[in-house]
Amino acid sequence: MTHMIGIDLGTSNSLCAVFEDGQPRLIPNALNSFLTPSVISVSEDNRVLVGAAAKEMRVTQPERCAWVFKRLMGTEQSVKIGTHTFTAPEMSSLVLQSLKQDAEAYLGTPVEDAIITVPAYFNDHQRNATKLAGELAGLNVRRIINEPTAAALTYGFHDRGADKRLIVIDLGGGTFDVTAMEVFEGTLEIISTAGESMLGGEDFTDRILAWTLSTQKMQLEVAEMKAPLLVARLKQECEAAKHAFATASEARIRFPDVQGEITEQSPVITISQEQFQKLSEPLIKRLSRPIARAVRDSRIPPQEFTDVILVGGATRMEVVRSFVRSFFDTEPLCSYNPDEVVALGAAVQAALIQDDQAVDDMVMTDICPFTLGTEVIKEFGQRKVDGYFLPVIHRNTTIPVSREEVVFTVSPNQRQVAVGVYQGESRKVEDNLFLGKLEVKGIPPGPAGKPVHLRFTYDLNGILEVEAYVPETGKKSTLILTQHARLSSSKEIKSAVKKLQALKFYPRDDVRNQHLLSFAERVIGEVSPYQREDLESMIDQFEHAMSSGDREYFDSVRQNLLTSLAALGFHYDEEEGRERES
Ligand code: ADP
Ligand code: MG
Repeated sequence: MTHMIGIDLGTSNSLCAVFEDGQPRLIPNALNSFLTPSVISVSEDNRVLVGAAAKEMRVTQPERCAWVFKRLMGTEQSVKIGTHTFTAPEMSSLVLQSLKQDAEAYLGTPVEDAIITVPAYFNDHQRNATKLAGELAGLNVRRIINEPTAAALTYGFHDRGADKRLIVIDLGGGTFDVTAMEVFEGTLEIISTAGESMLGGEDFTDRILAWTLSTQKMQLEVAEMKAPLLVARLKQECEAAKHAFATASEARIRFPDVQGEITEQSPVITISQEQFQKLSEPLIKRLSRPIARAVRDSRIPPQEFTDVILVGGATRMEVVRSFVRSFFDTEPLCSYNPDEVVALGAAVQAALIQDDQAVDDMVMTDICPFTLGTEVIKEFGQRKVDGYFLPVIHRNTTIPVSREEVVFTVSPNQRQVAVGVYQGESRKVEDNLFLGKLEVKGIPPGPAGKPVHLRFTYDLNGILEVEAYVPETGKKSTLILTQHARLSSSKEIKSAVKKLQALKFYPRDDVRNQHLLSFAERVIGEVSPYQREDLESMIDQFEHAMSSGDREYFDSVRQNLLTSLAALGFHYDEEEGRERES
């Protein structure tokens, strides 16, 4: 039997799940953790590390690593890692390949089909980039679904008899989504959604980072250029401080030196919960707008939502919780692990597609999160003004949907029309996102005012197709907006695949050792100079033992290294996929 996996491809962490024996289940990675940090590292000799090991390396060798690349999806930007250059879909495909390998190891069969989740507020370019990442990883992407919808599927799956109005607030590492929905007798209907694809937990860390630097009279942009190792290690300290606020009223940040090393002489900066709250204010303000809009669009008064569900690691922050609590005047729910609900829901979606018996009483309908339309010219007396936006599919319309609008030629003997396709809520196209252009040619000569029918079709993956039809000739032209993802031509895809194939993943057993190695290397920067020498020699031995092929020798060296690390106060936890809380 073939398996279809569900993947939550996150900015900070990615997870993978499968529907098995009537239940969605998470799949562990090589370190036996469900969370794989979305961090990659590539060495000069083409060795790839994905996940916790790469995350450790981010502190010691940031130039060999890449992270938060989900924020670049749908853009033309690429990232240099050593001498390599990667696009965002290529980097994401490495994470996906690693999850695919984990799934294959867990299931014991090859895996080809996958559901991948994206923030509801991802636009067409970003969705297509995600699909492309899946293809580059050798996956057949059966469906792209919205993250909050997936989260709701998990809740809906476990509470099918419910008659509820839910609002899902999903704040991850880099994106923010709000989705309102109704659950009634196993039918899950998404009503409205809003969000921001550039707002997440990372921004809170960056606020602490900028503040900490300012206490030492440094500016973030300058420090990033002049002292990247200091910034890399300090960022990790700030991340830990942010997490500490979940339980403590203040946090201590050790300020590393230019080499990114922390010593006993390093200044320690204390940040209070109040200070953090103050730093977070502008971000909390930005959270409030999409929440208000999703609520308004749902036409459900805030106090009538039965459940307010928190999803995404960044909703663990008290500043976020207290804001949500006061907005809805209720205690938000978090019955499932906020890191895990999206991946589990993707597995439920896989079950729905595969007609699994366990979900045959479930139905789900999703919506288009933004308005899609075209550019038109308006006439004011004799004057013609272009640049106006004509909506064709309104936001929050249930999908799949297909709508038609008729536009007209504006000049006599106009033989062609350029149909600009845009997404957004503004009256003028210049303020909306340009998605693509369709050239309609061969309109017969004649007076102005000849009709051209435009049909917009938005499918279940959230991908748009636009078709133009000239009634007089019966001719059709079609624009599938996938053409706008980077690397669109098959030739470009082939060359990307070739480049990626040249990279080598470590075998699963080696991944564990590489993780310990990069962990120990990070610790070097945090111990005193006289401890350092001993630790370095232990690490040298460990590295040597890894390639020796002598199991017994290796095991004893490994044990020695673990004991020394523990003696220095650094307890290595293999299953640590998430950020360390020190
Ligand atoms: P994504 O789905 O974007 O990968 P996650 O849902 O995994 O993101 O959330 C990652 C974000 O959550 C990071 O910014 C991380 O710092 C933050 N986070 C995780 N745990 C905590 C915590 N205890 N306190 C504050 N922030 C947290
Ligand atoms: Mg997420």
